[in-house]
Amino acid sequence: MHELSIAQSLFDIVMEESLKHGVTNVRAIKLEVGAMAAVVPEALTFCFELVSRDSIAEGARIEIVTLPVVARCGECGLEFEVRDQIFRCPRCDVPVSDLVSGRELSIVNIEGETGEEDGSD
Ligand SMILES: [Zn+2]
Repeated sequence: MHELSIAQSLFDIVMEESLKHGVTNVRAIKLEVGAMAAVVPEALTFCFELVSRDSIAEGARIEIVTLPVVARCGECGLEFEVRDQIFRCPRCDVPVSDLVSGRELSIVNIEGETGEEDGSD
């Protein structure tokens, strides 16, 4: 399953970051996922629950922000949002293959508790 490998690498990053910042309990993970990344939020949440079991990230809430697919026209340079998988410039009506965004999958924020009440980063 596609989401399982994503959840696994996500988990690795969360663990690494938590260790770095002294987080002892991960409460929420906020993600930005491009519409082209073809990630099913429910499946990713489910898979993350599997891989995070018995870790400090167990039970963490996964918040997914879906980013629109934006393409750039090679003819006129227009950047436009791709809807309904139509990769054509609305101005020139030529096929467009240059994606500006839409495939990303990145962690925006990890919310957690640290052992000490120290606000510094
Ligand atoms: Zn164009």
